[in-house]
Amino acid sequence: MRQFMAQAEVGDAVIDIDPTTERLEKMVAAMLGKESAIFMPSGSMTNQIAIRLHCQPGDEFLCEENCHVYNYEQAAFAQLSGIVARTLPGVNGVLSPEQFEGTIRPINDHLVRTRLVCLENTHNRGSGTVQPFDTVQTITTWAAENGLKTHLDGARLFNAAVASDISVDRWGAMFDSVSVCFSKGLGAPVGSALAGSGEFIQKAKRARKLFGGGMRQSGIIAAGALFALQNNIERLAEDHQKAAKLADAIRETEGIALEVDPVETNIVIFTVEKQLGTAAQLQASLAERGLLVLAMGPQKIRMVTHLDVSMSQVEAAIEVIKETLPAMA
Ligand SMILES: *Cc1c(COP(=O)(O)O)cnc(C)c1O
Repeated sequence: MRQFMAQAEVGDAVIDIDPTTERLEKMVAAMLGKESAIFMPSGSMTNQIAIRLHCQPGDEFLCEENCHVYNYEQAAFAQLSGIVARTLPGVNGVLSPEQFEGTIRPINDHLVRTRLVCLENTHNRGSGTVQPFDTVQTITTWAAENGLKTHLDGARLFNAAVASDISVDRWGAMFDSVSVCFSKGLGAPVGSALAGSGEFIQKAKRARKLFGGGMRQSGIIAAGALFALQNNIERLAEDHQKAAKLADAIRETEGIALEVDPVETNIVIFTVEKQLGTAAQLQASLAERGLLVLAMGPQKIRMVTHLDVSMSQVEAAIEVIKETLPAMA
């Protein structure tokens, strides 16, 4: 990937003459079955620009309460675009179609206007859960029938596609816009892309400049993303196998329990019993033995497998877990 990036042909993407960025954007659009796509520096930017374009100031969008756009992007939709979120509680990040009944506000001078539904697939805080395809189809069909737009935060859409054996374009076809990340499981250093209709992406380009995301010789980083799309998708299945192995070990270890069982993709979230200590304490004890995990709540820990973690390292991680937990008791 580094060599491919070093050799990338570059121009100036701000004025549309960077051939590698253009190649990436065409490839993403084709893969996702959309007319057009645009490369951006981050997934926060692709998501926030999508929300901004689907809504007007004083509008509201519907999303799951633990989703990334609501929890981890500083409510940029409010700060930068004057938009409000209405959250619905999901089960492991999954909402049911019935929860949307009655959520569209009537149009009158007192109320915000309901404009958009945002879903996340796979769901990060939901332990990497793949959204059930039929559920997504029911929700997005309902949205379209009721005049709402739909956006998919597909930061991990390729994980969802590999785990479900449903192609990214079939997932993407259900939404007006789709965001994907290259710098998560796909292993590229930088970037995300937003895909949608030609007109939508034209507007997204203008918003990207407004948000400070216009990039010049971006072909260097776009090349990393291109390489990832060409080489690192099918191998995501290995990350899922490794996560399943870690999950097996957690299931067998006393004092910790999986949040979601079985683990479907590359994210393993588990809770530690209070009498053993906090997640932060367990994180520190695991780190002392060389295993890096993330405390994501008072008792909750997240582990993620990816292309830099080999099977032998997963086995070593399991040994560390089995050694550390009894030592905390
Ligand atoms: C990582 C991530 C994003 C984008 O985050 P950036 O750090 O801005 O690239 C968006 N959604 C989800 C679910 C993510 O995990």
